[in-house]
Amino acid sequence: MEKTLVILKPSCVERALIGPVITRIQQRGIIISGMKMMQLDEKILREHYSHLVDKPFFPSLVASMMASPVVCMVLSGVDVVEVFRKMTGVTNGRKAEPGTLRGDFCMSGQANIIHASDSPENAQIEINRFFKPEEVFDYTPSNINFLYSADEIK
Ligand code: UDP
Ligand code: MG
Repeated sequence: MEKTLVILKPSCVERALIGPVITRIQQRGIIISGMKMMQLDEKILREHYSHLVDKPFFPSLVASMMASPVVCMVLSGVDVVEVFRKMTGVTNGRKAEPGTLRGDFCMSGQANIIHASDSPENAQIEINRFFKPEEVFDYTPSNINFLYSADEIK
């Protein structure tokens, strides 16, 4: 089943929004395959945000991501990368649609509570960056036949 890498950012952790965000993930029927708290450092953030290192806001982005521990998650589901990016909403929380996580829970373009992988290829790279293989659990939940029809998961 497809997997995506999600980070509940310091703006999520510090605002006590871990629970509400996880509730929305589980209400959607997305499977949690890995979850842990981490204190990120500059080294991993320079890799993770390598597409942004030359932007003027990069130092502030790094500081914001190191401001507290984060919660890293591996989520599983059919087409989960696309589904979860849609649930996340656009980057700037003020522009994100109501009903999305950013559109419902934040007002910032930087402190936007959540990271979500943007393609299946990047998801695999990011999962390997933040998780050891033994930290990802490829179990089948007992309610799987109520989450999908058999032909969707064959
Ligand atoms: N970011 C920022 N200022 C910007 C654009 C992005 O601080 O003008 C931060 C923001 O926290 C965002 C992260 O950099 O989530 C990664 O940017 P990206 O363009 O990959 O957006 P995302 O994929 O998170 O929507
Ligand atoms: Mg991105």
